[in-house]
Amino acid sequence: MRMSRLLAPTLREVPGDAEIASHQLLLRAGFIRRVSPGVYNFLPLMERVVRKVAQIVREEMDRSGAQEVRMPILCPADLWQQSGRWGAYGKEMFRLKNRHERDELLGPTHEEVVTAIAREEVRSYRQLPLNLYQIQTKFRDEIRPRFGLLRGREFLMKDAYSFHVDTADLEREYAAMCDTYTSIFNRCGLATRAVESDVGAIGGSAAHEFMVIVDTPGGECDILYSDACDYAANVERAETRVALPTYTPTDAAREKVHTPAIRTVAEQAAMLGIPVDQIVKTVVTLATWFDGPEGKPRHQAVVAVLRGDLKLNLVKLQNHLGCHELRTASDEEVLSHTGVVPGFVGPFDLPRGVLLVGDRSVETMRDFSTGASEKDMHYIHASWSDACRPASVADLVQAEAGMPCPRTPGGTLRATKGIEVGNTFKLGTKYSKAMGATFTTAEGGEEPFVMGCYGIGVTRTAQAAAEACHDANGIAWPVAIAPYHLVIIPANPKDEAVVAAAEQLYAQAAKAGIEAVIDDRDERAGVKFKDADLIGFPYRITVGKALAEGKVEFKPRLASEVATLPVDSVIDHVAGLVREATSGAPAPAPVLA
Ligand code: ATP
Ligand code: MG
Repeated sequence: MRMSRLLAPTLREVPGDAEIASHQLLLRAGFIRRVSPGVYNFLPLMERVVRKVAQIVREEMDRSGAQEVRMPILCPADLWQQSGRWGAYGKEMFRLKNRHERDELLGPTHEEVVTAIAREEVRSYRQLPLNLYQIQTKFRDEIRPRFGLLRGREFLMKDAYSFHVDTADLEREYAAMCDTYTSIFNRCGLATRAVESDVGAIGGSAAHEFMVIVDTPGGECDILYSDACDYAANVERAETRVALPTYTPTDAAREKVHTPAIRTVAEQAAMLGIPVDQIVKTVVTLATWFDGPEGKPRHQAVVAVLRGDLKLNLVKLQNHLGCHELRTASDEEVLSHTGVVPGFVGPFDLPRGVLLVGDRSVETMRDFSTGASEKDMHYIHASWSDACRPASVADLVQAEAGMPCPRTPGGTLRATKGIEVGNTFKLGTKYSKAMGATFTTAEGGEEPFVMGCYGIGVTRTAQAAAEACHDANGIAWPVAIAPYHLVIIPANPKDEAVVAAAEQLYAQAAKAGIEAVIDDRDERAGVKFKDADLIGFPYRITVGKALAEGKVEFKPRLASEVATLPVDSVIDHVAGLVREATSGAPAPAPVLA
């Protein structure tokens, strides 16, 4: 490609709405242009990067034995009504009516459509296992589209779905997919780490997210990892080991005490002269389910109780309740649902219809202090009784950096950030049961398919590479997904010998299978260097004064020094480097700082 012909409109100014480096750089270097929030034009350089990521994904999925298909973007609502998600999916789904007033949607994900394929086309255990995937545009009306391609409303995803006779076979495929994902991201030049994740709205029993670890604001996901073992989890689901309480309980009888103007557990502990872990604190939340095919909302006030020194994790509570939405109640809502002013709600004397749910930390607590469900009053010496105890108990603790590792005694959780580029879910029979997708077993019975699903954000991965690999001057693309491998810069476009040599190198590069751009613009060398660094070509050859001695300058994008190489062998040298970088060699092991 000739730079003079390439549509790569570079910008000098950083566009105002771009908050993170990769988004700014993709705009400045002329890779993308915004059309509307979360919707972008991919200019030629971006299209090349995205195609390369998609191709690596395709090759590795094919290698794993998965089969590529194409499902529709425009999907009928009835499949989603069968699974129950037409109501449950919420506002992220783009819904529309066709000319016959039928409900349709733009696919945000394809569990329903693929389960219907299996239901219609797969009859027998002999046809299993089966893994179907597609690389396709997805639509999600994200509440906050941001960070360029990292969170778009229209984006490219690879989604794969596997079908099995039993969970043992799902486990096998799940492990194989995790290996495939590691190969994919390694080949893209990205070090990733698999972390345990929340199963969220997709449902199922276990899930992992593949994170590109970045210590920049682009890392939207908070990750906790152990300094003592390989435990790592999204903070949404991370576990910890809760220390034993510090106080010795007595058998004193429950008593109501006057505690005016108390709002926090710290104030409560100070006023009562007790440690915070002798307090059972309450958090009033509002849960919503969307029931039936039409998703009629049903609300429930839920009071969560946990030990005073711990924080509530709303995601864990939502999963425990199995509700579709959950939020903490406002002061007015606390009053209207419990009849008590905020700060004094307690587990005893709650109005009928309010659900009490406990964290494990409170299960065996006794002789504790808690709200007396009356303004300016708290109980002391309270204990659970047959009349009052949580309806159910689960791990609801928000784990934080500095808390103990849940797996290894003595280990501590540390925090880092990541971009989720892919994820894997063990779905089990959630969709196959709901949609009546069954197969005939070897014994002649009918069983629902056991399923897994596996996503990769192709466009998100492309930008994540720029977020992980850049410097002050621009992007530094990993060779395997760079839009072009090499830029050839004739330093002085007026010097005929220089231009002729540069053109010859350009022709040689094409023959050697190197994707090269020749910067044939009538610009100063400094301008060309700046643009080359901004765009992020992995290798640069500059033809200049050294040509008189048969030499050219060679520089990998992040090298601090320029090397002088013979003009006759420089293309062989680059070809060797490109071959090495695109051969699927594993990237270095991820380092968590
Ligand atoms: P997130 O937590 O970031 O919203 P998700 O859990 O909704 O992601 P999935 O539904 O599992 O993601 O989608 C699979 C993959 O698609 C994700 O791992 C991510 O790489 C990508 N992805 C999801 N949402 C977007 C988006 N709005 N823009 C770009 N890529 C996305
Ligand atoms: Mg999402």
